[in-house]
Amino acid sequence: MPVWSVRSERCKGCRLCVEFCPRHCLEISNELNAIGYYPARMHDAGKCTSCALCADMCPEAGIIVVRRKRKKKT
Ligand code: SF4
Ligand code: SF4
Repeated sequence: MPVWSVRSERCKGCRLCVEFCPRHCLEISNELNAIGYYPARMHDAGKCTSCALCADMCPEAGIIVVRRKRKKKT
């Protein structure tokens, strides 16, 4: 399972990450963050491939994705 997190206090709710996620994992929260925006949040972690496209898109550098390492075949 990938590790995905948003620095909610940076998010301005622009929806770029939500719109560009190829797996439709993200959504906008219905709760305001500390700076008065509705932040992005994960809603279907099981579909996330840890591609990090969302982190690359975010103009606020608000998303952190820890990429999954592939297991070596033995
Ligand atoms: S890492 Fe990729 S699949 Fe996961 S939420 Fe971000 S854009 Fe979607
Ligand atoms: S791209 Fe960044 S600022 Fe925009 S909604 Fe997603 S986390 Fe928030």
